Amino acid sequence: MNEHDSERMLQLLEGVSYSETDEAKEADLILINTCSVREKPEHKVYSALGRFKRLKDENGMMIGVAGCVAQQEGQRLLDRIPYLDMVIGTQAIPLLPQLLQKLEVSGERVCETGFDPGGDYLGTVLPQEPPKKIKSYVTIMQGCDHFCSFCIVPYVRGRERSRPSREIIEEVKHLAEMGVKEVCLLGQNVNGYGKGMKGELNFSNLLERINEVEGVERIRFTTSHPRDLSDELIQAYSRLSKLCEHIHLPFQSGSNKILKAMHRGYTRESYLKKIDRLRETCPSIALTADVIVGFPGEGDEDFRQTLDLVEKFRFDDLFSFKYSPRKGTRAAQFEDRVEERVKQERLSILREIQKRMTLQKNQSLVGFVQEILVEGQSRQSDRDMTGRTRSNKIVNFEGSLSFVGKLVRVRISKAYPHSLRGERVQSIAECGVRIAE
Ligand code: SAM
Ligand code: SF4
Repeated sequence: MNEHDSERMLQLLEGVSYSETDEAKEADLILINTCSVREKPEHKVYSALGRFKRLKDENGMMIGVAGCVAQQEGQRLLDRIPYLDMVIGTQAIPLLPQLLQKLEVSGERVCETGFDPGGDYLGTVLPQEPPKKIKSYVTIMQGCDHFCSFCIVPYVRGRERSRPSREIIEEVKHLAEMGVKEVCLLGQNVNGYGKGMKGELNFSNLLERINEVEGVERIRFTTSHPRDLSDELIQAYSRLSKLCEHIHLPFQSGSNKILKAMHRGYTRESYLKKIDRLRETCPSIALTADVIVGFPGEGDEDFRQTLDLVEKFRFDDLFSFKYSPRKGTRAAQFEDRVEERVKQERLSILREIQKRMTLQKNQSLVGFVQEILVEGQSRQSDRDMTGRTRSNKIVNFEGSLSFVGKLVRVRISKAYPHSLRGERVQSIAECGVRIAE
């Protein structure tokens, strides 16, 4: 979501004659987009600001902070950092050109952290130039109503609000006309799409409509909350040809005691049932998840249950985090904190297990032919192109730039921990092996 917000800010800035530079010292404006979901990214903001101060002393550029830290700290940031010029909250992005103009004309420092002060946070500027990438994010909703006890998101992104489906479909059509082949629908809880909007489509219906858009080859979405994952959405995997066989379904903990304290609204058993249903409906579905270790009260047995869930359910990949207390959330008040050393130990154990499993999952594709959407040249070699399978795995293969944006068939020959290697095959007859479902 932050990545997408950065793209939107860039687009708005290009609209007022700014252009992107890779050289910080050449910039007239440095805008740091921030995340406050854990303490570490929050700290990075302050060290980045320290680094940029030296540049500002030399070049006199403007410096701004956007995103969740900006939303959370607001005026306090301006008070704390005297050389900071602009603070722009998560829902004030559309106001960026006006705020910048005010700053340029008056030299007055600006701070805007109201929730949707311009009344159009969710609206998007449709690109007039063909996008640089063949994949594009499309925001379908903002905010979250779940209030998991560890999470800052509802406080910095506000409550759930969906964009009208008409607007979303229009945006997807426009992107397809501009050459985009894959869209990823964004929301903290996409299953909640359309909630409270009379006559609006639900999320599965929205997917159905996007599936009909000509030119779009692949559809993904993130994130889906396990509690709200409906049977209708599970069935969409068997009905919608463009919906890629991958779901990111964070479980956070394998222990019911911890899930309850996290206020997640599901149990280990109900989560597992949903995975079973997903795998029955779509046997080749790739599954990834988020998990937190060291939540307050997490004992050895709770952690063992998390490991057990990971071993049993064999995720394709896992994003694992040490619990980080966030001021203002309920869990920040919980006692029975887990020692940092124990958190680190648990994280290492979990990551080691998952590393082995991810490799095994990748190895299971060797010999099979996969459909790849080619994204561009590989960073490792000029002769290689890179793309992703429908299950979202990175594949490198020898090829030319003429493949970019095309769907090609590649037979997987090698598996690595984070990617696959393969050779392009021209036709099904040449494959010699079954195409993985
Ligand atoms: N909405 C998504 C969901 O409920 O599954 C998650 C969005 S959250 C921004 C991304 C991930 O960050 C979470 O799934 C969780 O694993 C992690 N996270 C959130 N708050 C955290 C905290 N206080 N400490 C550690 N990890 C955290
Ligand atoms: Fe945070 Fe996701 Fe829970 Fe919402 S559902 S509070 S975004 S973890």
